[in-house]
Amino acid sequence: MGRQFNEFKAAELHCPQCGSVQPVRERPASALTIELLCSRCATVLGQHTVMDHSLGGKLARLASSLFGGRK
Ligand SMILES: [Zn+2]
Repeated sequence: MGRQFNEFKAAELHCPQCGSVQPVRERPASALTIELLCSRCATVLGQHTVMDHSLGGKLARLASSLFGGRK
């Protein structure tokens, strides 16, 4: 795979609290996870895993190779 989707950006998501699509803010939830928060009410709308940017990314890959089973 030549291309990496290492800049996953969800600029806007539907927020059930606001009842409409709202811009999101990213907040690190852990070393490997970023939470996507509604910029209006700060409800967590989703999260994604950090990939390949750092030691954390390498650990994540190692973990997925251990637990994912597929190369
Ligand atoms: Zn909201």
